[in-house]
Amino acid sequence: MATKQMVIIPIYWGGWWATRGPVGRSAAAEMNGILQTIVGGRYMDCLSQYGIGRGYVARSYVYPVDPPASGFTDSMRDYVFSLAINQGHVPTPGDFNLNLQRPFYCLIVKPGVEHLLDPSLAPDVNSGAYHYSKNYWNGGPWPGGQVCWVKGDTTIAGTVQRLIHEMAEAYSGAGEIADKCQGAGSVVVDGVTVPQYWSVADNSCCPEPDPSPIGVSFSRIGVYVQVVRILFGIIGDGGGLELRGPTPVPVDPWGWLTKGELKNAFERAESMVEQELGGDDQARREGLRFLREFKRMLQAPEVRR
Ligand SMILES: [Zn+2]
Repeated sequence: MATKQMVIIPIYWGGWWATRGPVGRSAAAEMNGILQTIVGGRYMDCLSQYGIGRGYVARSYVYPVDPPASGFTDSMRDYVFSLAINQGHVPTPGDFNLNLQRPFYCLIVKPGVEHLLDPSLAPDVNSGAYHYSKNYWNGGPWPGGQVCWVKGDTTIAGTVQRLIHEMAEAYSGAGEIADKCQGAGSVVVDGVTVPQYWSVADNSCCPEPDPSPIGVSFSRIGVYVQVVRILFGIIGDGGGLELRGPTPVPVDPWGWLTKGELKNAFERAESMVEQELGGDDQARREGLRFLREFKRMLQAPEVRR
């Protein structure tokens, strides 16, 4: 089957997305980067049976007005979609070649804000995200269009998983294929933790996880790179940028972490080092030693103030 390129168009709802993130990047930029790894990588390959191929993340938009803390309704959701698409903050369906591409608009809501069901306005606590069809925009019809909304999770990694679940299902034409593999748990693909989805062709959940690092031996420099990547991945889920004037700027690098947050970050990093380097005892010990040294350095008085 000829496949169409998947194009994710993220629309971030709330100024939070422009301000919170690892040093030098906003949470939106961090999320776009992770989504690009997935949509451009082998996660997509079992979807080709459903006519979906590898693609990319298009120009995204941060709508700076926060959703109401009391929750967002479907009409508010529609308003933000219309504003972002019809005012050209993101590419419109008319900008794509729909014979070759599958634009997938996703409204990604600031963490901590609930979706309110229509018409009861009851909090929709059981859904983290939802995909549905949207067949029109101001420029005309958009046959077969699909969009989703995603409630921001407490971590970027969690938000990514919610969105990827919807992406796998939206254009598959095969139903809730990610729900069908929920019991199988998530897997790491191209270094990102993602949900699996059902592959009719394979009669199993897909894709396969990355090969296990067990048995692989690491060079010393490889160990350091791995530890730094783990640590920054964790700290990246926290803060780091602040809106000063119109531009998010890094705020006091390292200093934004409280003592408790720093402790938690290192505890998580330690267990990830154990897990990822565990297959090579020498690498594991070297990784843990390097991590402790890094921590001591960050806690030195001249850095901690
Ligand atoms: Zn689902």
